[in-house]
Amino acid sequence: RLGGDEFVVLLSENQSAEDAAHTAEKILSVLAAPHSIGQQQLHITSSIGISTYPNDATDAESLIKNADTAMYLAKEEGRNNYQFFHHEMNIHAVERQLIEAHLRTAMENSEFILHYQPKVDLQSGRITSAEALIRWQHPAWGMIMPTRFIPVAEACGLIVPLGRWVLLQACAQAKRWENCGYALDSVAVNVSALEFRRKDFVDSVESALRVTNLNPQNLQLEITESVLMRDAQASATILQQLKTLGVQLAVDDFGTGYSSLSYLSQFPIDVLKIDRSFVQDIHNSNGIIVSAVIAMSNSLKLQVIAEGIEETVQLEFLRAHHCSEGQGFLFSQPVSAQNFTNLLRSGISSPINTLYQATGSLG
Ligand code: C2E
Ligand code: CA
Ligand code: CA
Repeated sequence: RLGGDEFVVLLSENQSAEDAAHTAEKILSVLAAPHSIGQQQLHITSSIGISTYPNDATDAESLIKNADTAMYLAKEEGRNNYQFFHHEMNIHAVERQLIEAHLRTAMENSEFILHYQPKVDLQSGRITSAEALIRWQHPAWGMIMPTRFIPVAEACGLIVPLGRWVLLQACAQAKRWENCGYALDSVAVNVSALEFRRKDFVDSVESALRVTNLNPQNLQLEITESVLMRDAQASATILQQLKTLGVQLAVDDFGTGYSSLSYLSQFPIDVLKIDRSFVQDIHNSNGIIVSAVIAMSNSLKLQVIAEGIEETVQLEFLRAHHCSEGQGFLFSQPVSAQNFTNLLRSGISSPINTLYQATGSLG
């Protein structure tokens, strides 16, 4: 026993990596069996990292350290699995530690900023709403995109204060646009798994709405399909509480998360966002997934938004199949609040409208 709940197994007879994998599988399956303690049935999960001699290290200390690094990846991959160590993991682990250390001070130093990407009515080209997307302006590293720091913030719990900040900023911005006479249908905020499952999440949404005096209908929460399906029963309860507040609910990255359709029809959701990968695949697949999701959304009376529209042919396809809204670089990258205001202000002369004048006859 190395300490706490960590154990080391030394496989001295093993000849190959496959042998180690085989042993890891046996350990996982034995530990997965329920334990009867008193009247209770307890379940534990385990995560295993494997490093091999002499490929990964030639001394005991480094072998254990590398196995430890691989174990953290196993935990991130959802536990109850094993991972082999790769040298890139060390580079990755160092980067993550560095990001985590800087994230802790970034909040205090106001280094975060929200950008907004327009969602567009595909028939008219009108901007209907916005999605708030966080960026980190590091004084030395420059602009850091969320895919690099959100997973780190989730792993160390910093996503909770960060998520609260995003909610408050986005609601305040939505109210500002409303006050300027640019009432959008909604401003959307992405919600991470950790936030969504916290007991006080519904309260923090309510508080952001109260503080900013934003109408709940003008806030949309985007939750990924995979987060919703991880524990569908519990998700249904949380969604119901959020719905009671009056906010709009969207399923993000739809098509990638193995939805159970029976749950989907029970969830009180308003919007399905078709994942970018399916939109990008329209020309290879004749858009069969996209058209199926649009048809399904119509039957379930859900609004449907196509993500990641980059090409005019994709836009044409989506319009022809009556997809109501879309989002993508073809219309606009995510931009600062100021530039988003300019997009709203420029109205008929905006790049989106110019695009619509060019493609207007295709719809
Ligand atoms: P997402 O929610 O799926 O957001 C859409 C991502 O696709 C954004 O990347 C956006 O810039 C990008 N995108 C939009 N249109 C196009 C397009 O036409 N082509 C391509 N290739 N990409 C396009 P971004 O801003 O880097 O955000 C990445 C992810 O980070 C988001 O994915 C979301 O999961 C997460 N994220 C961003 N902001 C927040 C936040 O405030 N809170 C949380 N929890 N997660 C966030
Ligand atoms: Ca999103
Ligand atoms: Ca998405």
